[in-house]
Amino acid sequence: MSPPLLSVEHLDVVYDGTITALSDVSLVVEPGQVVAVLGSNGAGKTSLLRAVSRSLQPYGGTVTGGTVRFAGEDLAGRDAADVVRRGLVQVPEGRRIFRDLTVAENLRAGGYTVKDARARAEARDRVFDLFPILAERRDQPGGLLSGGQQQMLAMGRALMVSPQLLLLDEPSLGLAPLLVDQIGEIVTEINKQGTAVLLIEQNAVMGLRVADAAYVLETGRVTASGTADALAASDEVQERYLGVA
Ligand code: ATP
Repeated sequence: MSPPLLSVEHLDVVYDGTITALSDVSLVVEPGQVVAVLGSNGAGKTSLLRAVSRSLQPYGGTVTGGTVRFAGEDLAGRDAADVVRRGLVQVPEGRRIFRDLTVAENLRAGGYTVKDARARAEARDRVFDLFPILAERRDQPGGLLSGGQQQMLAMGRALMVSPQLLLLDEPSLGLAPLLVDQIGEIVTEINKQGTAVLLIEQNAVMGLRVADAAYVLETGRVTASGTADALAASDEVQERYLGVA
């Protein structure tokens, strides 16, 4: 049997040597899956993504226990650039696009590690097919795009390296409901094209709609997990995250 695409086992993360952000967190993403991680502010969702994408260090964070494996390989000691080359790419919270570069230049920057010009052009065409609005605005500076379009650009930039696993940090944050639905549909489409997705969401409705499986994080621990359908049906998740009384 082939190993899971991503396997996190008993992960502990600490900031500044003292602040515990994650304790004993385990989760699995199988090839082809969308897995959602739900939880309120400060639950540890972003810390989990940073641990997976090996980007904790600039924030003062350290993995103090447990393992992260990608396609069976332990990522301990690997840096962020290395995991990107392996096909694991994070779209950070808050978009962080290059505001002064055009849409096309942002995408080119995303694909700079793709050496083959034809592969790069194909990846860009795929991004433009997924996000036609980006094609329309290809010559406009990123900073002039709406919030939803900036989210699309950030996702498009990550897709330029044709990742095996896309890590999305709260893509619906600050977006109007219609755009949240649209982003959800795009996540489904990206997944259909063969990319597995680990989706961090405070918006549990959206997260459970697009995910196959989901985990609930509370103060750094996994408190519930299962198929998205099973979680959506659970009383606790309904009360705490879906606003059902
Ligand atoms: P949000 O939705 O607000 O981003 P989150 O679920 O992503 O929340 P994290 O950002 O991972 O949660 O935070 C988990 C815990 O780690 C919180 O207690 C937070 O204060 C702490 N934390 C996060 N980043 C840092 C940092 N750079 N330095 C110190 N503590 C941090």
